[in-house]
Amino acid sequence: RVDPGTGDELVKTVCTHCSVGCGLQIAVEDDTVVGQESWDDNPVNQGGLCSKGASLTQTENSEQRLKEPLKLEDGEWVRMDWDEILEEITGRLNDIREETGPHGTFWCGSACHSNEAAYLIRKLAAFYGTNNVDHQARICHSTTVTGIANTWGVGAMTNNNNDMRNVDVNLIIGHNPLESHPVAWQHFQEAQRRGGTHIVAEPRYTKTAAAADDYVHFRSGTDVAFIYGLIHHIVENDLHDEEFIESRVMVPTWEEFRDDVLPQYDVETVSDICGTPESDLRDLAETLADAEVSCVEWAMGGTQHNNGTGNTRAYAMLNLTLGHAAQEGGGTPIYRGHDNVQGATDLGVDAGNTPGYYGLDEGAWEHWANVWTESPYTSGEISYDELVDRFHDTELMEKNGFTVARWFEGVLDDQWEIYQPDPLRAAIFWGHGLGSLSEYKRVREGVNELEFIVNVDIFPNQVAELADADTDVYMLPAATNLEEAGSATNTGRQLQWRNQAVSPRHNARKDWELLCQFADHLGFGDHFDYDEVEDVLREINLGVRSVGYIGQTPERLKAHQEHADRFSVEDLRAELEDDEEIEGVQDGDVYGLPWPCWHDEHPGTPILYDASLHPAEGGMDFRSNWWDGAVDAVDDGDDPEVDPEDHLRDPVDPDWWDGDGELEGVPQYPLFTTVLPDDPSEPASLTLPIEGALDEDTSVADVAEALDEEGYDVDLERYEDFTNAQPDAPWGRGRARMKAWNLEDEIPV
Ligand code: SF4
Repeated sequence: RVDPGTGDELVKTVCTHCSVGCGLQIAVEDDTVVGQESWDDNPVNQGGLCSKGASLTQTENSEQRLKEPLKLEDGEWVRMDWDEILEEITGRLNDIREETGPHGTFWCGSACHSNEAAYLIRKLAAFYGTNNVDHQARICHSTTVTGIANTWGVGAMTNNNNDMRNVDVNLIIGHNPLESHPVAWQHFQEAQRRGGTHIVAEPRYTKTAAAADDYVHFRSGTDVAFIYGLIHHIVENDLHDEEFIESRVMVPTWEEFRDDVLPQYDVETVSDICGTPESDLRDLAETLADAEVSCVEWAMGGTQHNNGTGNTRAYAMLNLTLGHAAQEGGGTPIYRGHDNVQGATDLGVDAGNTPGYYGLDEGAWEHWANVWTESPYTSGEISYDELVDRFHDTELMEKNGFTVARWFEGVLDDQWEIYQPDPLRAAIFWGHGLGSLSEYKRVREGVNELEFIVNVDIFPNQVAELADADTDVYMLPAATNLEEAGSATNTGRQLQWRNQAVSPRHNARKDWELLCQFADHLGFGDHFDYDEVEDVLREINLGVRSVGYIGQTPERLKAHQEHADRFSVEDLRAELEDDEEIEGVQDGDVYGLPWPCWHDEHPGTPILYDASLHPAEGGMDFRSNWWDGAVDAVDDGDDPEVDPEDHLRDPVDPDWWDGDGELEGVPQYPLFTTVLPDDPSEPASLTLPIEGALDEDTSVADVAEALDEEGYDVDLERYEDFTNAQPDAPWGRGRARMKAWNLEDEIPV
């Protein structure tokens, strides 16, 4: 396409800054990005972009990009050429493999990778021989995946952005879409125009709360009690959907939950725990129950808790109780963070999984050995036994590797002994800085225990700043998503193709090609000798059959992009004239072919599950998340991810709150999560009992001192460990990260 005003070439792509997946067009002149335009007929965003999406060209053309391959050696940055640096890094990786085994390396991928790059990094780690591979989803929505996979069946949004137009009542909890996913809000607004209602339940009064129809406050960290209180009122007043529960939920566990757990959460008790007026709880429960269809929607405000899995299960339980799951305008709209966090998770960049959630057991590895042998897109062959040889150890091959949240335990304090015989010696962070990790001091210590660290990124980041003189650092410049093609899966499970707009700038390389070059240097390039990036997706189509990544071929995704105007914004289905034939688009196709898409003529699945069908007839079973059901699943070995001790304990015991403002028995995370007020009727999330303390000059240490005087058990060191906020940092920055840093002066770029 050509911009009629300027004559510039226009290239369609998808925004890389959040999981909504807004389409846009990049203006190109002489292989250079010169601007961007809206893509008005993209059904996801209809041309809308927020300030993040509207500034993609700034990222692309920034002078602060990492431009050359660099090595930090003895405190000096040295420029190297690609062949030299790849030879050196992969030589050292092969030495580790031979000397102490493949488990000596940690591979961190990225939720900003395309599906193809995400799949390749998981495949690369498998051929190297380790499950020490993970990515950012661990620290954002892994609690959703665990909580929901054990409830519905798979960890994903049950509907999509556009379906938010259809909601009757939408409970938004732990999500502030007006700021985090702004363009999605247009669909929420349409629901309001149609008479739908959005109710925000949050500790904070957010921008979304201001635009919603109602707001209900509860104390931070008391989500489970809050939701149980709603369920209690619904059940006590016979407002639940008994028939739905009987046909779709494991009945014995439902009865146990109803009879043993729920009675502890009457509205009066929950009001005490949550600081929510009883009338608000009752009104909200009745509004949800009266709705024709309601949904419970969340993002990281619900997941990033010590008991995040408990929260996400509770949200789903509420939706199950009302029988509003698996229908248009209902279910659980779960908003992911990064642009491809759904795809990277689906494709197995996960210490406990292989692509497609096949797990790590023998059957999973046999499946993937078959796929990697049968793939017509690469020349290599590998048997299951040869794959075992690559891991050196069958037990470790079937065991979860280190996660991105705990990888430093692989190198500190002999903790690796819990997981593997030897410590980590090297780490590769590919599209991932370290600034988002908690326990930052431990992260720094971990980095400095490594022999070397490799960082592949668009910009220099904290990884380089953390290392001391004993740890070598390699920084490799990556291409942006405007400089390489590939697919991405948005939060609604829709895949979209991103075209390459320009060649990689400076001396950057495309992720997928660089991953294949790593494989080649490591000695298994015959499994990575794809002709084009499309072939990687074709191999995914071949192998990821479990959740239906089968029918989203490159050809169909490109045809959907080209003919996006044929799809309805209302329900995302193509509306072709009877006699019209468009290659790659069929009448009834859903835009982006949301998974599951079971074959290359399947239209895609905009609403996950079919509650009208019995599981035996093709509907999907709603596994129960009531405690004992999940515990049984663990006992049966169905879900090694779930540890009943860690995840299934009741996270809000009413005894924690004795009603008199005493903190005895309340888990103590002073300064970090909830501090309860003396008066239980006060709205109180993070309301510190310090008069006038919270002006902008108040430091973390001031707050600690004041709390200490009030008799609170303050653990400042733990706070620092978890947040990396220095004691003299302004309290208002709360969990602000490390000091501002700037590598420009230090790196010869
Ligand atoms: Fe990009 Fe998300 Fe903004 Fe859309 S809402 S423009 S995908 S950051």
